[in-house]
Amino acid sequence: MASLLLRKVRPLGGDTVDVLVTGGVIARLEPEIATYPADTTLFEGENQLLLPGLVDGHIHIDKTFWGLPWRPNQAGPHLIDKIENERLLRKELQLSVAEQSEGLAREAIARGSSWLRTHVDIDTENGLTNFEGVLATREKLASAIDIQLVAFPQSGLLTRPGTLELITDAVAGGAEVVGGLDPAGIDRNPAGQLDAIFNVAERYGAMIDIHLHDRGELGAFQIELIAERTNALGLQGRVAVSHAFCLAMVDDTYLARLTELLVENDIAIMTHGPGSSPFPPILKLTESGVRLFSGSDGVRDAWGPFGNADMLERAWILSYRSNFRKDHEIERALQLTTFGGADVLGVSDYGLEVGCRADLVMVPGDTPAEAVISRPVRSMVIKGGTLVALEGRCLV
Ligand SMILES: [Zn+2]
Repeated sequence: MASLLLRKVRPLGGDTVDVLVTGGVIARLEPEIATYPADTTLFEGENQLLLPGLVDGHIHIDKTFWGLPWRPNQAGPHLIDKIENERLLRKELQLSVAEQSEGLAREAIARGSSWLRTHVDIDTENGLTNFEGVLATREKLASAIDIQLVAFPQSGLLTRPGTLELITDAVAGGAEVVGGLDPAGIDRNPAGQLDAIFNVAERYGAMIDIHLHDRGELGAFQIELIAERTNALGLQGRVAVSHAFCLAMVDDTYLARLTELLVENDIAIMTHGPGSSPFPPILKLTESGVRLFSGSDGVRDAWGPFGNADMLERAWILSYRSNFRKDHEIERALQLTTFGGADVLGVSDYGLEVGCRADLVMVPGDTPAEAVISRPVRSMVIKGGTLVALEGRCLV
């Protein structure tokens, strides 16, 4: 693998340095690098910002309409309406999951993401079709982006007998994460769904990531159940709860208790800054030591027309929805889409130090906060030491 020399870049908005990438890692990072291997390709950074590769910790690339003609959203207002609408549309459109997921993953690469955690629908009607389609994309784009798969029971787990077996097959077949969905609201059996999920995770050494939209005290009670099981099975650091709207709906005393449970059991929380609901308080939770991360969630699919897999834009949305104005607050939002996500996904050697893997994004701007607010075209994206996108175009 040839070396790359990025001249005059500013890691996270700091002092200007040269960065030499060799063998897929950051080999040197110095004010000026004058000597380097003969086969090195040089890029002039012109004092642009250098960020670590962005991490989309919650996306659904299997169900996107990305790249297709515009489709007005027709889903009803309730969660169950959206699930039913999607299942009908899937039958009608007969889209190729491999093609659709590849198109969106390419867009994510162009916008600077180095890692995705994608939930993949698994149900008794569709079996492992979506899982297999996304597996094909993961293999095809392996040199340009890492994709982690969540075996996700989008239509319910226990309410549809046979789903648990399919989820187990997916985990045995390469999904790193076991998904869940509103154990109370969808399955109406919170202990049953959680026991089943935790059992699969324990048997296969998988991580867990549960969609929890259930609101108020019903949602909060399920966080207690998740914490109990995490503790009992010693799965600290391996469990995440996505959305967790309930954390924004309980009183301060109860929130303090839930925060303690999350910290004690090292359970991470994913928020994408939804427009439809109160969402977990980012500053309060991170300052208490809860690990937070973020993601696109659905991108132009049957659930809604929004999204573009841009994790700078996601940090913008988190900031806007949280009423962040100060640079340090906006950079906290960006942290969810960089270091926070990498931590939850288990990415080793992540960052901008010598020895870190060379997953890098170069963007114009003075500070990381400015990059979040401006969301400029990514000048350059490097994955594992290879150039994968230039001026907003995926090269793979
Ligand atoms: Zn989701």
